[in-house]
Amino acid sequence: MNKNTDTFQIDPPANPPKDDFTIRCPRLGHQINFSYCRSENSGDPCFKTLDCWYPHFDVHAYLKNSLKKDEFKKIFLNKAKPKVLSLFELIEQAKKRKEKQD
Ligand code: SF4
Repeated sequence: MNKNTDTFQIDPPANPPKDDFTIRCPRLGHQINFSYCRSENSGDPCFKTLDCWYPHFDVHAYLKNSLKKDEFKKIFLNKAKPKVLSLFELIEQAKKRKEKQD
């Protein structure tokens, strides 16, 4: 029991559910099990694995323990650049190429 709120807190399971347990994939639009998500990206976890599975077990601790630190960082902590920023960078690169040609 939590002394501050007088409520019970249930720790999430430490291990992923068995493959007969599925959730609805927001990207694919159908039911999927954790094994699929764990290796969806050419053997690496899907970048949304933490978001999709945290209600069902302690996916953060599980993946921190099963991936190398740089793998975890690459998959989950590198945010993609916003498209507008990428477009801006492409325009700047084109301008520089044009200036060199002139
Ligand atoms: S982790 Fe990826 S593949 Fe798995 S349910 Fe979420 S979006 Fe779909």
